Amino acid sequence: MSRYIFVTGGVVSSLGKGLTAAALGALLQARGFTVRLRKLDPYLNVDPGTMSPFEHGEVFVTDDGAETDLDLGHYERFTGVSATSTDSVSCGKIYSKVLEKERRGDYLGKTIQVIPHVTNEIKDFLALGDNEVDFMLCEIGGTVGDIEGLPFFEAIRQFSHERAEKQCIFIHLTLLPYIAASGELKTKPTQHSVKELRSIGLSPDILVCRTDRDIPQKEREKLALFCNVRKESVIAAPDLESIYEAPLCYMREKLDQAVLDAFQISPAPSPNLQIWEDVADRINNPEGEVHIAIVGKYTQLEDAYKSIAEALTHGGMANRTRVISTWIDAEIFERKNPTELLQKFNAILVPGGFGERGTEGKILAAHFARTKNVPYLGICLGMQMAVIEAARNLVGISSAGSEEFFEQNTDKGVTPVIYHLKEWYKDRKKFVRSSQDHKGGSMRLGAYKADLVLNSKVQQIYQATEISERHRHRYEVNIKYKADLEKCGMVFSGVSPDGKLPEIVELKDHPWYIGVQFHPELKSKPFEPHPIFKDFVKAALDQSRLV
Ligand code: GLN
Repeated sequence: MSRYIFVTGGVVSSLGKGLTAAALGALLQARGFTVRLRKLDPYLNVDPGTMSPFEHGEVFVTDDGAETDLDLGHYERFTGVSATSTDSVSCGKIYSKVLEKERRGDYLGKTIQVIPHVTNEIKDFLALGDNEVDFMLCEIGGTVGDIEGLPFFEAIRQFSHERAEKQCIFIHLTLLPYIAASGELKTKPTQHSVKELRSIGLSPDILVCRTDRDIPQKEREKLALFCNVRKESVIAAPDLESIYEAPLCYMREKLDQAVLDAFQISPAPSPNLQIWEDVADRINNPEGEVHIAIVGKYTQLEDAYKSIAEALTHGGMANRTRVISTWIDAEIFERKNPTELLQKFNAILVPGGFGERGTEGKILAAHFARTKNVPYLGICLGMQMAVIEAARNLVGISSAGSEEFFEQNTDKGVTPVIYHLKEWYKDRKKFVRSSQDHKGGSMRLGAYKADLVLNSKVQQIYQATEISERHRHRYEVNIKYKADLEKCGMVFSGVSPDGKLPEIVELKDHPWYIGVQFHPELKSKPFEPHPIFKDFVKAALDQSRLV
């Protein structure tokens, strides 16, 4: 049976539980163990797919098509283990399952209650895939004391009670604030947070404390005594320049050792941290820098494009280059000439997005990149905008647009170069959609294969003729414009295996201009940068040498 590590948070939110879980996963792997990471979110949305990126940050998509929390991205980037739909659950999803069973009559007339029905459903989720790995790391979203988190806390309490001794441990992440006036790190909020945990029957085995400075011995002893943990189990989590230093930092703090001690695993296999040393070296010792403009919609919140920011960092690491990204709100180009703002950048990236707002600005950014020979990467909506730009200005279809923006308004003047896909196949399974569908979970989601055209730029970049990438979109480039666009130099260099869905476009006579219908950023890792991002940063570097 797998051993379970539950990661909870206290004092304040946003302390980085996901990162701690991910870095611990990497450390356990470095000692030869297998791991799987899971996220349990207390909110009542069924999944984050319909949540605004401003509220919740990026939606991370798994190969099997689940729309999940962005922490799953951290898990994949640190452990390389591909997440699946069974690695993320929300209270909303648990409740829908319980209510579905109730309607079906599965509970045989019983009164349905949080305990045991909701908690049992959570425990069933936790037990999925038990036995498959050495360690299952489960992060509970939110902070202890949140009303909606209670069923999860109760479920993990019961789960550990029902398992054999030393099969489950609890890590609690808290904050040690520094009070400048007294020159002290304060332990009281952590003590209160642990007290709150204990009031619901949970005792942490390990405390991970976020601080902006070292924790003096005296405070470590105090925390150990009042929170009932070993002194060696008080782990400092200092602020880091780069998140990728976290595994090495936690190793120095002996977090993994504390975990193995808590499970009484002895002797512990010694760790091999070569890949993380290489990652840290590449991050800390860049030999050059490039400036990349990201022209998007959700630019006030970096988390909205988390994986893109990380994939650019990975691309930089592969080229030993620091990538300095500037986030630009696309709407600005509807008032201001793009040249003024964009000419100082070595490359332009237009990310994914939804809705019409800002799209004319993105089209202008694509136009600038195409006509000024600046490297351009268009992701999902960014590809669709590049195609609209080419259709308007190269093919001459001045009314070219996307059904996403006029379907509802029945504006007959627009030519749908981008159209609403209503029917498609995956692994012989047919998917059918209509405009009346629910918004949740109804896009083309998850991994799809594409065939690459021989000798195209992307075929050289991937060094492959068949790829698989993750999708999340409702609209598609209409293949019927392929011939016209290709005549003008926009090559359809990646298409779905049945030849119906354009997956990649690139410009023939341009140093680097690529649009991809999928999200390559979701598969990039610091130790395995995605080829598209690696080559994009290289193109930016080449461009920087021209000026
Ligand atoms: N809104 C577009 C669509 O649904 C693009 C989606 C995206 O960029 N992820 O097709």
